[in-house]
Amino acid sequence: MPMRLAIARQNSPQRMPDSAQSLDTYLEADLAAIAAAQRYRRRRIVACADLDKPTRVNVDGRDCIHFCSNDYLGLSTHASVREAFATAANRYGVGSGASHLITGHGPEHHALEEELAAFMGTPRALVYSTGYMCNLGIASALVRRGDRVLEDRLNHASLIDAGLANGARFERYAHANAEALEKTLEPKAQRPTPQRSWIFTDGVFSMDGDVAPLKALHSVATKHDATLMIDDAHGFGVIGATGRGSLEYCGLTPREVPIYMATLGKAAGVFGAFVAGSETLIETLIQKSRTYIYTTAVPPAVAAATRAALKVIQTEPWRRERLHALIAKFRQGARELGLTLFDSSTPIQPLILGDEAQALTASERLLERGLLVAAIRPPTVPQGTSRLRITFSTAHDMEDVERLLDALSYLPREH
Ligand SMILES: *Cc1c(COP(=O)(O)O)cnc(C)c1O
Repeated sequence: MPMRLAIARQNSPQRMPDSAQSLDTYLEADLAAIAAAQRYRRRRIVACADLDKPTRVNVDGRDCIHFCSNDYLGLSTHASVREAFATAANRYGVGSGASHLITGHGPEHHALEEELAAFMGTPRALVYSTGYMCNLGIASALVRRGDRVLEDRLNHASLIDAGLANGARFERYAHANAEALEKTLEPKAQRPTPQRSWIFTDGVFSMDGDVAPLKALHSVATKHDATLMIDDAHGFGVIGATGRGSLEYCGLTPREVPIYMATLGKAAGVFGAFVAGSETLIETLIQKSRTYIYTTAVPPAVAAATRAALKVIQTEPWRRERLHALIAKFRQGARELGLTLFDSSTPIQPLILGDEAQALTASERLLERGLLVAAIRPPTVPQGTSRLRITFSTAHDMEDVERLLDALSYLPREH
């Protein structure tokens, strides 16, 4: 009886704040500080406006073209991926009902793992529910107290959190800098010798779009008997001649990078993540990875849709080719406008604007012109590097890129 409850509350003396009020008071100062720093985040309600053109969206009631999703190949709306999803839901039901080690591991999950392993050229692969959980789960299974974890300064938050999790000695090295990594790895006499060293890096950096210098990182890792793990959330399906991501792009094999992780909610267009590696690595994760063991398996239809997406990644190379043509067109046009570009050959093309307010204003100006481009601010990126994070998708067309360039030419610039 909410009515009666409200009346009862009104009548009772309110000297002590109730629990919720006490919590709110405790939290409010924090929220005010976030707002004062121009870092308050608001969600927009974004709906796909046209299944044939997933870059057309309706944002809070207004039709827009977006340049900020990670659906790089346009697979989230691909007909065969949608169909696989619907067919599997009708065949297996919607929820998986349990974790993988109980009854949640079905034929679609298993087939997906085998197909991912075959695609990556590894003996095994293991599917996790999300990339965030995958990174935490890898670290929780492999890293022990007293180990060292070395991470690129610009790694994704989930890799950073993974590195901080297990009581390891956590250190960051300068971005994409194998020499800095090596200096950090050099044994320091005064410290106790670590049990094992782990190097975690993004394959493609999620906010800058550059590719990690994997060959150089691999040499340093080998020299110091450290284990290299890459998070290829933004490389898988997108770069490399056949879409096998940063490894293929850098000419490395999975034997050289023994832990390869990528997400399935970005270029693959669906949801989830996987690790590819040796039999022993995967068995260790199944036995020990807490975020694998203690969570419900993704719905079987998600696995089925991902299998269909993996097929498209292999059978429709034109999607990658078109994406790279769009990126080239953008970079050419942006150079002509005198915009400062990052050294990125991936769909992630940031434009640095400086402070939080500048990035927000630019994003609002673009939205007025029907273009949705995310403003990315600290703490996602370092202080003073607030930016527009522009991303491209196969689902864009050349005119979309022209519209974006035109709108960017109206943004105020400092020079
Ligand atoms: C998106 C992302 C993740 C997290 O993956 P989810 O499946 O979205 O949880 C992990 N690492 C990187 C580099 C990412 O960009």
